[in-house]
Amino acid sequence: MSDSTQNMGEFELIGRFADVLGTDLPPEIVVGIGDDCAVARRGTDFDVYTTDTVVDGVHFRRGQIPWFDLGWKSVAVNLSDIAAMGARPLHCLVTLGVPEYVTGDELAELYRGMAAVTAEHGGTIVGGDIVRASELFITVSAVGTIAGASGSEDGLPALLRSAAVPGDLIAVTGDVGSAAGGLKSLEDGLASDREALMERLYRPTPRFTAGLALAAAGVRCAIDISDGLIADLGHICKASGVSATIRAADVPVSPLLKEAYPDTWTELALSGGEDYELLFTGPAELIDGARDAVEVPITVIGEIGESNGIPDVSVLDGNGRPIPIGARGWDHLRP
Ligand SMILES: [Mg+2]
Repeated sequence: MSDSTQNMGEFELIGRFADVLGTDLPPEIVVGIGDDCAVARRGTDFDVYTTDTVVDGVHFRRGQIPWFDLGWKSVAVNLSDIAAMGARPLHCLVTLGVPEYVTGDELAELYRGMAAVTAEHGGTIVGGDIVRASELFITVSAVGTIAGASGSEDGLPALLRSAAVPGDLIAVTGDVGSAAGGLKSLEDGLASDREALMERLYRPTPRFTAGLALAAAGVRCAIDISDGLIADLGHICKASGVSATIRAADVPVSPLLKEAYPDTWTELALSGGEDYELLFTGPAELIDGARDAVEVPITVIGEIGESNGIPDVSVLDGNGRPIPIGARGWDHLRP
């Protein structure tokens, strides 16, 4: 069988090198590979680390996304991973691979987008690297912090993928599917008529207020929606060893998306990626306790159940019947 990485998905590859690196992590690492961020104990507090790369032709197309938005998004997706841990952003490092055809003005606009998202949400850019490359790529690494909580069991009041327990409610911030609606509009050649959907695709909001409020309220499980609602809920189920049931009719969708895609908005909301809303689980009273402190609506969409062997996600229609699920979000490396 071929060992070419061409036939391997992102998660298979992560599994391969996680095996090579082994499980002997230094004692200060309290969360290693497999969550939105790694977490290191630092005195009584915790540092969180994440990194993400976008490549021209794989994650975006140069000439399609405005340079400002490319800068915004490449930083915002990293900040979103920090928000999904219930952490505050500290700093970012940016590495650019720049082909010769990119102009100085274009790079300046890229950095304006990066500066705009950090000015609004935190995570100042403090360094990085620029290299010549055959394709344009942007790698951002971000560091955040979580204040230790003396009251909790391990002193770590973080939001983890692995902390869902049967009986938890499942909820999301804001609405989902609009970024996928933006991507679809782009493919349909309708981007210029669908500015609001394009903004959701190109300028996602890292949900720091929500992440911090949820963590402060005692919620302990979250992920940011990058791969799609069903796919990311699947990541929670796998990491927590639980199953999940959601009601399609309860999933919050913007009127704009419904208007633009009256026949396919449910599918876009369930399987579309890149909304960067927070998907989280917890007892009803803890979720209610966070509601007033969060700037966007919180919607309960389902419940966590016991694992039935394979941790899995079920979606019910308006009559409580299971909806067969085809595309389960997308995997960044699979063609
Ligand atoms: Mg994430």
